[in-house]
Amino acid sequence: MKEITSSEFESEVLAGGKVVLDFYSTECPPCEAVAPKFEGLAKLYGNDIKFVKMFRQQNKPLAEQLGVKSSPTLLFFDNGVQVGNSLSGGIKRSDIIHQLDAMLPAERVKEINSQIKSSVSEFDVLILGAGPGGLTAGLYLCQSKINTVLIDIALPGGHISTTHEISNYPGFIDPQPGYMLSHNMSEQTKLCGTVYKVAVDVTKIDLENKEVVIDEFETIKAKKIIIATGTSPNLMGIPGEREMKGKGISYCATCDAKYYGDKEVVVIGGGNSAVEEADFISKFASKITVVHQFDAFTANKQAQEKLFANPKINTLFQHEPRSFSRQGDKLVTEVESLKTKEITKLVSDGVFIFIGMKPNIEMFRDKLTLDNWGYIKTDEDMRTNIPGIYAVGDVISKKYRQITTAVADGTIAAIAIAKEMD
Ligand SMILES: Cc1cc2nc3c(=O)[nH]c(=O)nc-3n(C[C@H](O)[C@H](O)[C@H](O)COP(=O)(O)OP(=O)(O)OC[C@H]3O[C@@H](n4cnc5c(N)ncnc54)[C@H](O)[C@@H]3O)c2cc1C
Repeated sequence: MKEITSSEFESEVLAGGKVVLDFYSTECPPCEAVAPKFEGLAKLYGNDIKFVKMFRQQNKPLAEQLGVKSSPTLLFFDNGVQVGNSLSGGIKRSDIIHQLDAMLPAERVKEINSQIKSSVSEFDVLILGAGPGGLTAGLYLCQSKINTVLIDIALPGGHISTTHEISNYPGFIDPQPGYMLSHNMSEQTKLCGTVYKVAVDVTKIDLENKEVVIDEFETIKAKKIIIATGTSPNLMGIPGEREMKGKGISYCATCDAKYYGDKEVVVIGGGNSAVEEADFISKFASKITVVHQFDAFTANKQAQEKLFANPKINTLFQHEPRSFSRQGDKLVTEVESLKTKEITKLVSDGVFIFIGMKPNIEMFRDKLTLDNWGYIKTDEDMRTNIPGIYAVGDVISKKYRQITTAVADGTIAAIAIAKEMD
């Protein structure tokens, strides 16, 4: 693989042939996550496609000219013309392969696939999920000199990386941007020496044999596994939601509120997330209608007071959404009054849904003892019913799901494991 500068762009990229160009930066965790994938694929596809990289900070004008706004960004060229989609952020190996394969004849893709060699590595502890719970367990294990690998389907950080502000994590006088807190947690664990495999496809999880396969070819074995996979937002499950998810319907204010400057938005839900995020969205949107099924919010009093004092926010209690549909570039939310059964159409530019979370246990739900809501049952040392398998953080059965409780669970599991392995 070759490192190039803007002056070589013409001759190395545009002159002809098939090329993939990686704009990277230093001090960029997503760039570090993509680098080994890029190098591995360069060996596999290198005879057919040229792999080059360019330091974005030193080649800014060209990056801007090519529409590159963040690092890493991968661009694909065929005979001097940009092809496919650019990739950025937490780039998965499978995303890159998808683009590379599209540049080659099917027969050649088959030949290349036949050259993929599976690999096996072994660790003392494998942690599934790099949110606050998994990162803390990784830190404590690493400091106990236990050989640990952290695997995540996304970049490290979990929910806090997309929470706009955290004001209740001890040790900080001022509220912290969520991405900063998660970055610091992640760097602390990584610097200690924990191995990271992030933005990967988790292909198979075998809890009994303590094996996890990632990206279809890499088997990772461990003596113990900690499940720290957290939760995902609940869907409403009503007509139109699936079709408009990501196209007007969002579950993350930090990610999407910025797109609603001076626009009208509907927020669905009445707990802490809905009430706090509605207030955050009001920094951008001109009008927000919060729809809640009960006659009062369940969010904490302080958050409620802030919301009621916000002139941009209206509330619609005792109403439930029944469907979403498009009307030109507007989104129509049909809501039903639970008192009168009357249907009202709310026309807005976007909808944010915050109606609770569900545990991320799809790949191993059959093997574990769960509570009535599908959360993993553990003992006080975070052990599950399967020997050598622990679970921590939001994914376990417990009363309060917060960063502090997730990091506490991670601490307990790591200390218990360290004692057992001593
Ligand atoms: C909008 C919002 C605002 C919040 N605000 C606050 C707040 O202000 N203060 C506070 O204390 N708490 C807050 N919370 C709660 C807090 O974020 C969680 O309690 C905490 O993040 C839980 O940490 P965790 O490590 O258990 O899980 P998560 O943070 O959910 O991390 C789980 C990780 O596992 C990964 N994963 C999922 N499935 C797999 C798989 N199959 N294989 C590998 N990896 C997988 C995910 O990609 C993720 O990175 C908020 C939550 C939300 C949603």
